[in-house]
Amino acid sequence: VEDELMRAQRLESLALLAAGLSHDLRNILQPLLIVPDLIRDRSDDPKVVRLADVIAECGRRGHEMVESMLSFVRGSRLPSERIVLQRLFQAVGMLLKSSLPGNVDLHLEVRDDRMAVEGNYTELQQVLLNLALNAIQAMPDGGRLSLLAERAAGADGERLRIRVQDEGVGMDEATVKRLFSPFFTTKAGGTGLGLVSCKRIVESLDGSIAVSSRPGEGTRFDLLLPLHAAAGERKDGAMPATPAGRG
Ligand code: ADP
Repeated sequence: VEDELMRAQRLESLALLAAGLSHDLRNILQPLLIVPDLIRDRSDDPKVVRLADVIAECGRRGHEMVESMLSFVRGSRLPSERIVLQRLFQAVGMLLKSSLPGNVDLHLEVRDDRMAVEGNYTELQQVLLNLALNAIQAMPDGGRLSLLAERAAGADGERLRIRVQDEGVGMDEATVKRLFSPFFTTKAGGTGLGLVSCKRIVESLDGSIAVSSRPGEGTRFDLLLPLHAAAGERKDGAMPATPAGRG
């Protein structure tokens, strides 16, 4: 019980800290939102333009994370939108590639390019980046990191499954059990908050997160999320029954 009280107190101070930090970060991030445009205006070098794109994406993400942190601390809800998996994976790929170790082989696949999910774009992107960065850190000797999005059968109909799989150090059962506890980390500079935040975000989307791992073999995280039905398509894949009124 004392342990839980301590944890609650730490979480409360963390919320205060987050509020203060968000305020300062807002100002610090400002140039990242403006400078990439200035760079694009002044350079025709495609490499430079690509780097400006990466900075712009980081700035946008940082800005939205600050807003997300603030609204989390305030307890308000973030705007929800239709997130197309294809686009999300492209952005995640771009961000990961800019800092990918040479010995890690990144593989991204979206099995169906119409698949979408309803939620806050930046939050879901954050989940994938958290999982991917953990995976990369788990592969100091390199290996394959794969992100796969596909349809999967759920208990109550079709769901979207996002699978993040690595060939890293893996985890024993005791570690897996503690994975989603706040502040659990095995890293020197770790916060132990990454997976806690992933779980919170996934569950806020009415989804679930599952882990399977073996020491020395690697780790697989499976997210199951509600599929957002594409326009003109029903969840069961049948044609709409109502007259289309076309032709
Ligand atoms: P942090 O990265 O700050 O440690 P996380 O909550 O993201 O916090 O992760 C908690 C712990 O879970 C990590 O310290 C690590 O021991 C373990 N972990 C997470 N992802 C993986 C992975 N893909 N492979 C092996 N261990 C992992």
